[in-house]
Amino acid sequence: MSDADLAVLRRQLGRPARGVLGIAARCVCGNPTVVATAPRLPDGTPFPTFYYLTHPAATAAMSALEAGHVMPELLAEMEADPELISAYRRAHEQYLADRAQFGEVPEIAGISAGGMPTRVKCLHALAAHALAAGPGVNPVGDAALSRAAWSSEVCACPPEESG
Ligand SMILES: [Zn+2]
Repeated sequence: MSDADLAVLRRQLGRPARGVLGIAARCVCGNPTVVATAPRLPDGTPFPTFYYLTHPAATAAMSALEAGHVMPELLAEMEADPELISAYRRAHEQYLADRAQFGEVPEIAGISAGGMPTRVKCLHALAAHALAAGPGVNPVGDAALSRAAWSSEVCACPPEESG
């Protein structure tokens, strides 16, 4: 993670990024798309969302899906397929294992993000995990990304930021 990454993150978030451990996924142009965040922020706050979606176009795309009531559809698809149910539970466990490398925080023990392992509550968190882990790890995150108007393969960064 470079000073340039931190500067882009600050613009993406509109505030200084807190507790950032590294860049977990990037735009094709190289800008951060997902950050890995410490499970306990510098001020002591427990922070379960280890993979945090920062890219404005990506977050807007996930907000649009949520507004379009895609979450109940993705939940129904997942619940209809025993393999997807299992995969979603494994995604939850992997998420917790990834985060545990950076410390155990009792307040959020067993709590991942986005509604895992049995619900669909935040597409931003699920898409962030899917982008960080790559296809085939988080089936609901993958499905959200496949429906999104944004793609990690096409740079939608503001012109002054795209590298
Ligand atoms: Zn870009």
